[in-house]
Amino acid sequence: MENLDKYFDPKGPFAALRVSQMKRSWKQSNRRELNWWENTYLPMLISGIYLTSKHFFYNVTFHILHLFGIAKGTKGAVTYQYPEMPRPLSSRLRTRHRLTKREDGSPRCVACMMCETVCPARCIEITAAEHPDPNIEKYPSEFILDLGKCVYCGFCVEVCPEDAIRMDTGNLKIAEYSRDSMIYDKKRLMEE
Ligand code: SF4
Ligand code: SF4
Repeated sequence: MENLDKYFDPKGPFAALRVSQMKRSWKQSNRRELNWWENTYLPMLISGIYLTSKHFFYNVTFHILHLFGIAKGTKGAVTYQYPEMPRPLSSRLRTRHRLTKREDGSPRCVACMMCETVCPARCIEITAAEHPDPNIEKYPSEFILDLGKCVYCGFCVEVCPEDAIRMDTGNLKIAEYSRDSMIYDKKRLMEE
């Protein structure tokens, strides 16, 4: 490789970074020329068709065998057959929110507003009211969560002091036909 010293000050700031950048661009500019056969793109074309056909015929064969109850132990496809076969979700995955309940069915939320305050998308809106039980200061008379704005960061769950909001429903099907339908109220958030 040619001497790179003429291009930069080796003692200057970011010298190491510049050396690695120049080495990379030197490697790229010195790539091997393709020969005439490679220039036809046929080798890669044949290789791609071979790979696609291999998977296709492998899967078709095993699906047909499965229809006759043969070779059930061998998987016939490399993909999940969604929606009949949904992909298993990780237990840590953040899915649609829910409000947890007390034993009497009322929300555990104490309307402390922590989630509303921390939410970066500003999609939570809580109206606090005085709780009839003197041991509990407040409860949310309304709890609105706009899933159309939510970025699924999970901050609301992390910050909640009462474990009152969770993202463990396993439900990812939140698509709706209108933005308004993506606004969840307290009742909807408490549904099982
Ligand atoms: S997941 Fe993030 S964006 Fe969505 S409601 Fe909670 S804090 Fe807001
Ligand atoms: S942080 Fe928890 S307790 Fe506080 S308002 Fe939000 S859901 Fe309710």
